[in-house]
Amino acid sequence: MVSRIIPVERFDLIIFGGTGDLARRKILPGLFRRFADGQMPEGSRIIGAARSEMDQAAFQEFAEEAISSFAGSAPEDTVLKAFLDTLDYVTIDALGEDGWAELSAKMRDTAVRAFYFSVGPSLFDDLAMRLHKHNLVDPETRIVVEKPFGHDLETARALNKVLSAHFDESQIYRIDHYLGKETVQNLMAVRFGNMLFEPLWNSQYIDHVQITVAEEVGVGGRGGYYDKSGAMRDMVQNHLMQLLCLTAMEPPAKFDPDAVRDEKLKVIRALEPVEPHHIVRGQYSETGDEQGFRDDVENPKSWTESFIALKCHVQNWRWAGTPFYLRTGKRLQARDSEIIVVFKETPHSIFGMEAGGGRNELRIQLQPDEGITLKVTIKEPGPGGMRLMDVPLDMSFAETLGDHADTPDAYERLIMDVIRGNQTLFMRDDEVEAAWAWTDPIIQGWESVNDVPKPYDSYSQGPTDAALLMQRDGREWREIGA
Ligand code: NAD
Repeated sequence: MVSRIIPVERFDLIIFGGTGDLARRKILPGLFRRFADGQMPEGSRIIGAARSEMDQAAFQEFAEEAISSFAGSAPEDTVLKAFLDTLDYVTIDALGEDGWAELSAKMRDTAVRAFYFSVGPSLFDDLAMRLHKHNLVDPETRIVVEKPFGHDLETARALNKVLSAHFDESQIYRIDHYLGKETVQNLMAVRFGNMLFEPLWNSQYIDHVQITVAEEVGVGGRGGYYDKSGAMRDMVQNHLMQLLCLTAMEPPAKFDPDAVRDEKLKVIRALEPVEPHHIVRGQYSETGDEQGFRDDVENPKSWTESFIALKCHVQNWRWAGTPFYLRTGKRLQARDSEIIVVFKETPHSIFGMEAGGGRNELRIQLQPDEGITLKVTIKEPGPGGMRLMDVPLDMSFAETLGDHADTPDAYERLIMDVIRGNQTLFMRDDEVEAAWAWTDPIIQGWESVNDVPKPYDSYSQGPTDAALLMQRDGREWREIGA
């Protein structure tokens, strides 16, 4: 029932920033799970490379702790040991010459070579330059870069320029881990693998689309970064726009990296500028013992948003007249992310308004559980005349696939795609720039009028104005955490 594991070629993966938080929570545990599943070919190696003074044994210990904390079920000792044996470490300085000769000496010509830049973007230029200087790059070499990819269009362009000076676009893998989620790919399978949905997938039949990425956590230890960023830059410009693109794009001619990315790009370019009154920004307030946003970011005058809701339009033949509502925020009622495609009402109810029943909705849930449900209207069972009720047709992986629903985490899948050389689920340079070109004027709009975010209670649905944004259109958000 579950697709078989497709082997990848033997590889050397070098993780710059191998001792950082991302390596600990995501990259190393993800690689371990691929190894335990038998997807990492024999002879593959993972080399941590960071400024921290460490040797191979200490890095293995670091990885062991990361795996026991974040890889899920307790690993078998023999498998864990075999994985740790694939690890090596080099102390290296991206900004100087320390460690580069040692890294170079460890390289082999007989394996796919990938460099994961799990470090801040200010180091990309130096890393890229030194990789070339030390002859560590061949035409097959890949690099993986993390978000944030720029702070605005200008900085994103500058980053693209830095990377393109050293690498061909076909070698650059910009990660947006939302694209690695099973359900996000299933959205494409559902849309383009079935006859059922595509004829209805347009403004004639779809009333609106809502995309929510809600987090329960606050900014945590990332206050300094987040205060300069905010929900629009941190979440909408990348994750929510990518989800919007996959929902709205035309069918690509084939499932090929550039064909898919061309179609996504067309969606971004068709996005209309957003009217200021179609945007609601919010900031979470203190609750009980927990401090509010301004204390979390240690800036009592911060006007940065920890929540944003907006209405936008994709101005093309398919979508003219169907709004897309996007919403994301921190310290909301629950960790809950989903895309909901709300279909229009039937043109006429033969059962009468009092019979009940609602509209069809296709709900693609990404977090906390992944799954897809289609809400359909049926007759309420039993006597009592023709009364209607809505039931979800459940395509949840957990139920349908049983034990096999333990699908790879987004990072695992994406790293294996890097080794395979498949860029379909990675953002291309022009996509990133187009996304910023749409985002920048929106941000400049509120900055120019000194817009102050609306306060909202922690662990709530966000500011009441976000609900009003929908209510004014006679619609409502699905309740977060319901
Ligand atoms: P971190 O601060 O925890 O780790 C940074 C790593 O970079 C450390 O291993 C450090 O030794 C290394 N480093 C710093 N300066 C160096 C230098 N001059 N030379 C060599 N190595 C150096 O950061 P992180 O949270 O792991 O994030 C890494 C990148 O991933 C950042 O760009 C971040 O924005 C991005 N990111 C992180 C997360 C996350 O959940 N942590 C999520 C998305 C994106």
